[in-house]
Amino acid sequence: MRLLLVGPPGAGKGTQAAMICTKLGIPHISTGAMFREAMAKGTKQGQKAKEYIEAGQLVPDDVTVEIVKERLMESDCSQGFLLDGFPRTVAQAQVLDGILEELGIKLDKVISIELPEEKILERLTGRRVCTKCGATYHTQYNPPLQEGKCNECQSDLIQRSDDTEATVKRRLVVYREETAPVITFYDKKELVCHIDGDKPISQVLNSVGQCIGRDL
Ligand code: ADP
Ligand code: ADP
Ligand code: ZN
Repeated sequence: MRLLLVGPPGAGKGTQAAMICTKLGIPHISTGAMFREAMAKGTKQGQKAKEYIEAGQLVPDDVTVEIVKERLMESDCSQGFLLDGFPRTVAQAQVLDGILEELGIKLDKVISIELPEEKILERLTGRRVCTKCGATYHTQYNPPLQEGKCNECQSDLIQRSDDTEATVKRRLVVYREETAPVITFYDKKELVCHIDGDKPISQVLNSVGQCIGRDL
């Protein structure tokens, strides 16, 4: 199955993606996670991405498209994939169309997780992520079993450097202006399931399952 997951920051994309991908056995491709990995390694791409990410801006399309293209060419994507947080601009969506056409494949569904703006700030300021495996928690809505430690690998949990109030506000403006039109782009192709993300995690997962016709 070939899926896209879109939605504002904090909507629950990463949380849902991890569960969907485990269940379906497809790779979870998160451009944000790939950038954070590159940043941690200090690669050239990572250094470039860091400036933009910490300013709440999008990483330029050319850098982003390059890493996605390389990733989709890897053999584990041949039976399906879930792209999380890409495309984030209409230009990226158009490039993706070209890549898929070249590979002779089509998207099955675009899952749009929706969340009112006033809920976004508390989602992001309470978010904690595992330094090692990237698992995501929330201090209030999805706390780890042991405070500050990952359930999966027991590593330390941290707050992302871009999850500050000032940066979140900028990310929201960017979302409205640059990413929301991506949903319209796929609506025209009749590929989108609009899902209410303002529900408990398990309920959102059920709605995703209904969208793709699978029991998750
Ligand atoms: P969130 O989970 O809060 O939506 P992500 O982890 O997906 O955030 O992305 C973190 C940051 O990485 C974004 O704010 C942006 O700066 C950058 N980024 C991620 N994906 C893209 C993309 N497709 N295009 C441009 N920048 C991106
Ligand atoms: P995104 O990848 O869209 O930015 P995340 O999956 O990282 O979003 O979720 C943002 C924060 O909200 C995390 O702290 C996560 O634990 C929490 N969260 C995710 N889904 C829900 C939900 N349905 N209800 C409450 N909190 C949630
Ligand atoms: Zn972990």
